[in-house]
Amino acid sequence: MAYTEQAHQLIDQFGRRVDYIRLSITDRCDFRCVYCMSEDMSFLPREEVLTLEECARLVKVFVALGVSKVRITGGEPLVRKNALSLFEEIGHLPGLKELVMTTNGSQLEHFAQPLKQAGLSRINISVDSLDPERFRKITRVGDLSKVLRGIEAAQAAGFANIKLNTVLMRGINDDEAIPLVDFAIAQGLDIAFIEEMPLGAVDHQRDSTYVSNQATLKLLQGHFPLISSAESTGGPAKYWRVAHANTRIGFISPHSHNFCEACNRVRITCKGELYLCLGQEDRVDLMPLLRAYPNDDTPLIEAILASMRVKPKGHDFDLQRQAPAVIRFMSQTGG
Ligand code: SAM
Ligand code: SF4
Repeated sequence: MAYTEQAHQLIDQFGRRVDYIRLSITDRCDFRCVYCMSEDMSFLPREEVLTLEECARLVKVFVALGVSKVRITGGEPLVRKNALSLFEEIGHLPGLKELVMTTNGSQLEHFAQPLKQAGLSRINISVDSLDPERFRKITRVGDLSKVLRGIEAAQAAGFANIKLNTVLMRGINDDEAIPLVDFAIAQGLDIAFIEEMPLGAVDHQRDSTYVSNQATLKLLQGHFPLISSAESTGGPAKYWRVAHANTRIGFISPHSHNFCEACNRVRITCKGELYLCLGQEDRVDLMPLLRAYPNDDTPLIEAILASMRVKPKGHDFDLQRQAPAVIRFMSQTGG
């Protein structure tokens, strides 16, 4: 069957239309953020990771099924060797309206310009502190100056609506909400605060560091003239605009707000596992189909269509629980 006949078929059992995929192209990273990874991580051997050609094939199949937005993520997507070739392969696919990426920014000074040329539409850059020493502590190894140069390079390459992603942790960087918003305003960037999620066993108790977005919003409202906004970038963030500035402040609040009713996305790990929900275990393994049928997409398409029947209604995070809500780290599922 031709792809066009199957377009727009990704509708789940609750009637939600899936038009957004997040594809992790590596579980590796040059940082070890304390909320994302444990100090001692082991990574997948190369043969267990999708090749970039397999990644591109998956993107093409999903786009043919009506997906119009693709986020490339990781791990750190730009530490994957030849990552740029994937962007070049899919950047101008007909039907793909938005190709976006989440990155820690460490390699952006080298890649921003060619990524823009390849067709990347938008970039989210994760920054949890503007203090170099604290930045190193949170990332365990990261160099803030490189990330700041990466942000500059992205701006110079002409990317608009660059968004910072920040995870605030109590007693670690929760005093930086205001300076980070000041920085975003000065640089003409958006910023989103993401509540820490219990994904994977890290080296601290999640409930000891959790900061609710409700508290962050209250703090920021005391400092900035914020105007509630109905805008959306197609994700779960609720936005506020800073009056007289170009900056939007987003809040991604998986704990205090359940945004699952409008969920429009699925995630694919770098092993080719199609996860139907970030916070649940339901998944379909696509790698065996990719490898068993190198020239025939039909089994892959059938498996993806069938997965819509098992997409769960929503997640269920509980920070008090001793065990993580799901065992896999965000770096494995793809943030
Ligand atoms: N390495 C890239 C980066 O840091 O932007 C992309 C992958 S990272 C897993 C994607 C996003 O997930 C980052 O913004 C990061 O802050 C966030 N993240 C990772 N672990 C998280 C957790 N346990 N709870 C909330 N956000 C998390
Ligand atoms: Fe790496 Fe991103 Fe996870 Fe930090 S949040 S360890 S940069 S994957």
